Amino acid sequence: MLPDNIANQIAAGEVIQRPASAVKELLENAVDAGATEIQLFIKDAGKELVQVIDNGSGMSETDARMCFERHATSKIQSIDDLFHIRTMGFRGEALASIAAVSQVELKSRMHTEEIGTFIEIDNSFVKRQEPCQTAVGTSIAMKNLFFNVPARRNFLKSNAAEMRHIVDEFIRVALAFPHLQFSLNSNGQQMFHLEKGSLKQRVIAILGQHYNSKLVTVKESTDYMNINGFVGKPETAKKTRGDQFFFVNNRFIKSGYLHHAVMNAFAEMIPAENYPLYVLFIDLDPAHIDINVHPTKQEIKFDDEKILYAFVQSAIKHALAQFSVTPALDFEL
Ligand code: ADP
Ligand code: MG
Repeated sequence: MLPDNIANQIAAGEVIQRPASAVKELLENAVDAGATEIQLFIKDAGKELVQVIDNGSGMSETDARMCFERHATSKIQSIDDLFHIRTMGFRGEALASIAAVSQVELKSRMHTEEIGTFIEIDNSFVKRQEPCQTAVGTSIAMKNLFFNVPARRNFLKSNAAEMRHIVDEFIRVALAFPHLQFSLNSNGQQMFHLEKGSLKQRVIAILGQHYNSKLVTVKESTDYMNINGFVGKPETAKKTRGDQFFFVNNRFIKSGYLHHAVMNAFAEMIPAENYPLYVLFIDLDPAHIDINVHPTKQEIKFDDEKILYAFVQSAIKHALAQFSVTPALDFEL
């Protein structure tokens, strides 16, 4: 038998590949906990510190201890639940993985408690636990990622590259939840401070003021699914990628197939090799998708991809046609 901490280290490799993986998991946990204000602190591109502080539900003393156990999830109880997932997390693997490959400090308090819990974990083991004064909500700090797996630590990229991954993950979560406040502080410098607002305000705050009055609303529904969001007017299409986002049930996904559907809708309107902005949210019954395909949940399977493709393409065509007839039309989401 492998000792638990070694087994955890091996399993952790799938979930936590780099600092940005922890950023994604910790931000999603804060969202799942019902937080309305979420702060991300980074030091040394996450190699030294990734910390998320939220004002969500907090955890009881027992939950705070349990949450680092593998498969300790509060989010699904049965196999059936797996097909109705509405939370970002459900595997109960993230915190166990983080705890296996770093030094973790957690502080948490529920609003019903006077006093919170502090827990320090090193290499999967609880090193210290004591009551502490802390705000309602949770703070989780992941320090010295891969301190105990030097081969993985050496494999990390330059700070600039790791920071780009971190910002990508931050942006994806911040776009998906415009009604929540997010901030990102790196080495003491504030990189983002995003106030609660509409999706349009969030898109412009993140992707640039030049998109102001250049966004076309996409909004269409059938019995089977909805699509909501924005595409950039054709003249804002760029030669570089980076402003393209698909979310399915609020989860960022990568899909070459759906990207193609958007590009097809824009065909003839933009020069070849140019990419329009899109920030699109597709919502459908979770029973029709399988998000369990990949540990980072960025790839998902749909029951019927062809229907989805046609739906996305026609929704964008309609949006673009409408804007060329009545250019002033610009709904708030
Ligand atoms: P999952 O999100 O898949 O359930 P995680 O390992 O990410 O698994 O988290 C384990 C559990 O710890 C969660 O189910 C939740 O109960 C608790 N938890 C984690 N982060 C927070 C947080 N920021 N606030 C409150 N509870 C949390
Ligand atoms: Mg989680």
